[in-house]
Amino acid sequence: MLRESQILQAWESGEGQPPAEQALCLLRYGYPDRSLAQLLSLPVGERDALLFALREKSFGPSLQGAARCPSCKEQSLFSVPLSALRVSAAQPMSQTFQLDCEGLQILFRLPTVSDLRQAAQLTDVEAVRSFLIRCCIVSVSRGDASVQESAWNRLSAQVERALADALSAHDPQSEVLLALCCAHCGHSFSALLDIVRFLWTELSARAERLFQEVDALARVYGWTESEILQLGPARRRRYLELVSHE
Ligand SMILES: [Zn+2]
Repeated sequence: MLRESQILQAWESGEGQPPAEQALCLLRYGYPDRSLAQLLSLPVGERDALLFALREKSFGPSLQGAARCPSCKEQSLFSVPLSALRVSAAQPMSQTFQLDCEGLQILFRLPTVSDLRQAAQLTDVEAVRSFLIRCCIVSVSRGDASVQESAWNRLSAQVERALADALSAHDPQSEVLLALCCAHCGHSFSALLDIVRFLWTELSARAERLFQEVDALARVYGWTESEILQLGPARRRRYLELVSHE
């Protein structure tokens, strides 16, 4: 669970950074008992499962948001229980899988937090895609003969596509679809939920509110930021009421 001081620290280290870095900030402050190396080696789906759990502990069990209906273009508000979005955590995701395509046997693993972080340095979408595919290949063989690593960059487009499909099929938590129904026209549609962006937006809003509360109380009482945060939400709210009635 993110405490108020951790919300401010996570916001400070991740604001303005790419989503891959923001996800890592959320995990570092949300799961301080895990080492950086452990977090970097998490498959993306497992990372997102941890972010869903962190969201539930820090901000509650249901997710509220808005999505635009593709039919009537109106914004619909939605509220979804987080439990409905979580893929079973019992499924072990830190493992390798095999793909057979065009006579090749390709052993691959799922992309990790570290892979995404490195991919975020690349600007070209195609470069990101082939970098991630390349990261995930563990070995390639044709029958009994293994294919040299130097040849992995020259896999056919069909093999690359099959591998990209296999990657998303094996990491279902990395793509969460919301089944929504438009409140205006009744149209049923689905929307992709990006838990990193969603959680970061919520964290930023919470940080902004904390800054405003600290600012208001520090001006009147002269307390420091950490003194004000230590008061906790209920006592802070009471002091803010007193301040506003002056
Ligand atoms: Zn609609």
